[in-house]
Amino acid sequence: MGVNFNERTMKEKLLVITFLILALEVSNAQLDNLKKEPIFTVVVDAGHGGHDPGTHDGKGRYEKNINLYVAKFIRYYMKKYAPEIKVVLTREEDVFLPLGRRPLYAKISDANLFVSLHCNHNPNKVSNGAEIYIQNTTRESAKFNLKKAVKFGLILEENLEEKLNYRSRGILMKNFQVLRESIDFVPSVLVELGFFSNNAESSYLNSNKGIQGLSLAITKSIMKYSIDTNN
Ligand SMILES: [Zn+2]
Repeated sequence: MGVNFNERTMKEKLLVITFLILALEVSNAQLDNLKKEPIFTVVVDAGHGGHDPGTHDGKGRYEKNINLYVAKFIRYYMKKYAPEIKVVLTREEDVFLPLGRRPLYAKISDANLFVSLHCNHNPNKVSNGAEIYIQNTTRESAKFNLKKAVKFGLILEENLEEKLNYRSRGILMKNFQVLRESIDFVPSVLVELGFFSNNAESSYLNSNKGIQGLSLAITKSIMKYSIDTNN
């Protein structure tokens, strides 16, 4: 059946109007998404994983699991207390992730902070407490983010000691690959949560109380840092 010229024009006009309405709806949806964009993004990197277990306490308890539990609890608490802060995890399960891949998560997500989680080991079984590491460098390009990393470290130290009554051994400098490869574009810290070589501390690290306590202290520190730095 043929359609006369006028009818087709009318149909075409209707189509154009429909497309315009659709286009408007799409752009409104995009605007809504923009409004919902997080004001602050933190990448939480659970150290080790898969065939790389990290340290252990000789009782079948491995560092890689505690790092992952704490990372997941940080995301859980953040959703609860500060949903406007986006938490990106470098791994979601017990898988191996090369060190070089980890900082890329901060680059891709344009993160405001990078926190790598680890647990410590020392032949001296008495050693205890958390250590907060920043990259040991005098590189000019790292200065700005190093300053910010120290700022986060001080907040975390205060929360650990005063709110959790947990020992901090201080903010220390070391040449860690994940810090070296991230500090130029994001403030980055590596947190040694505690010592697997210390019996009492290993039991705490491997308990719900320990995992949740440390996760909450880190979550609250990220929240305070995000406010203090106006990100
Ligand atoms: Zn480790």
